[in-house]
Amino acid sequence: MSAARPLEPPAPSLFEAVACYCCGSDSRSDFITAEDDLTGKPGTFRFVRCESCGLVYQHPRIVIERITDYYDDEYIAHRKKTDWGVLTPLYEHVMGKHDRDKDRTVSRYVTLDAHSEVLDVGCAVGTFLQRIRQRHGSRVCGVDFKDLRGHASLEGVDFRQGLFYEQDLGSERFDLVTMWHFLEHDYDPRRTLAKASAVLKQSGRLVIEVPRLDSVSFKLYGDRWPGLQAPQHTTLYDKQSLLRMVERAGFEVIDYLPYGSFPAYFYLFSGAAFRVLKGKGLNLSKAIYPYFAGQLALTPVLLFEKQLNLAMQTVVCGKR
Ligand SMILES: [Zn+2]
Repeated sequence: MSAARPLEPPAPSLFEAVACYCCGSDSRSDFITAEDDLTGKPGTFRFVRCESCGLVYQHPRIVIERITDYYDDEYIAHRKKTDWGVLTPLYEHVMGKHDRDKDRTVSRYVTLDAHSEVLDVGCAVGTFLQRIRQRHGSRVCGVDFKDLRGHASLEGVDFRQGLFYEQDLGSERFDLVTMWHFLEHDYDPRRTLAKASAVLKQSGRLVIEVPRLDSVSFKLYGDRWPGLQAPQHTTLYDKQSLLRMVERAGFEVIDYLPYGSFPAYFYLFSGAAFRVLKGKGLNLSKAIYPYFAGQLALTPVLLFEKQLNLAMQTVVCGKR
């Protein structure tokens, strides 16, 4: 699908050992082995459970300098609008709903207006920030490790390219900091959370959404669970380890939601596809018709998405 796809599994020299991201222990046991089911790149990736605190994380991991090879143009969050061809209007409708749901979630915890400042960490092409800017008039800032400048959806967004904790963003500045499916990719979540605390106003809110390991979809799909997303996902959080991580970083948990803005159905569909494809990679353009057909069929289940603990979780934090 892409010229950038490596043809060989990653060489052992591209991996490095890593201690537990939460407690620093290097005592661990095997948890699960995964493949890159989404793009079908070769290689197997190992997740372990920390014997000290219970966090599940990838060990060894690909060195940070080479993980970008796994975020090529097929990576869904980075896709340009036009990549979807005739399905572009449908795709935009779905993504629009996604951003509306994020807005609805954060608006329960913060009142945003023209005086507010909002930061999105791992902002991709910035559609969420664009919505916040247009609907609430807030000043918006986004960080992503990919250089995505030039995207129309980043217009008016103070976009920073690079690692979040290396950015100069001032202190106690933001009313809202969001991390939508960012923390599970992070190579240094403790440093990220410390930085988030430093840039957040005392009354501000940090909203984090990640896949939920102790969910129905993981029980269904096991080593083909889309939330494994190897090798990009460094950590796999269950409810307990997510709460422990933010509390250790000095945050107070304001609320916990057993769902997210990202559609659980995406995991239900792609997990089933990954089971069939067995690591050959999912061609999203070909899968799009079955995708929407399945969504229609599962409508009765998806009406109860927020009650069923299907795939995602969100934690809302404040400063102590
Ligand atoms: Zn640990």
